[in-house]
Amino acid sequence: MSNKEFRTAKQKEIELPPELSREILEIYQAMQDGYEKVAEDIGLSCRDCPDNCCDSYFQHHTYSEWAYLWEGLRDLDGKTLDRITERAKDYVRQSADVLATGDRPQLMCPLNEDGLCALYQHRMLICRMHGIPATLTRPDGQSMRFPGCFRCQEIVSNKYEQETDAPAMDRTQLFRRLAALESRLMGERRHLYPRVKKTIADMIVEGPPTIATPHCER
Ligand code: SF4
Ligand code: SF4
Repeated sequence: MSNKEFRTAKQKEIELPPELSREILEIYQAMQDGYEKVAEDIGLSCRDCPDNCCDSYFQHHTYSEWAYLWEGLRDLDGKTLDRITERAKDYVRQSADVLATGDRPQLMCPLNEDGLCALYQHRMLICRMHGIPATLTRPDGQSMRFPGCFRCQEIVSNKYEQETDAPAMDRTQLFRRLAALESRLMGERRHLYPRVKKTIADMIVEGPPTIATPHCER
């Protein structure tokens, strides 16, 4: 598919300039390094886990990650992209049905092929941090702590007297870096664009992120 096919007359694709593409990769790498350190300290490994977290329902909130995901999708061969797109369409349909009943969908991510991520280098931030205990200080100053996945919680309850004794990764700085990157990508008009709240499947089905072009730029 060419870029032109992804655009409508009054929409402009949001593409990451090379320096932002490199920076998002640095943020991802830092998240992965932090994950590996905490996972090693705790003794958590995904090897032989009976669960596969790729069926967790997550929505993503930045144009930057959406654009970076599409950098990876464009590198796939046509057949693989078509296969993934069909699965993404199914995912969108099925998740809408489940959400309509008030439940949280539990459906395999369309990028998962035979248990492996087809876009490993471009997988989202949340894919790189799910599992270990983590902390976050929100912009309003409120502190949050996440206990990690079920396997992590089992290990922690056997190994530590209290859950908060276990090491945890502080996500705050990396989230702030991603927010700053998003501001650089979207510029001063950021607040005028629709908020992103999309699953990976939505992002695949809808194509690369676009924004309405102001009249003066058409
Ligand atoms: S993050 Fe936890 S639940 Fe998910 S695959 Fe790894 S060990 Fe299993
Ligand atoms: S992007 Fe990859 S790692 Fe993330 S949920 Fe999908 S298949 Fe799993």
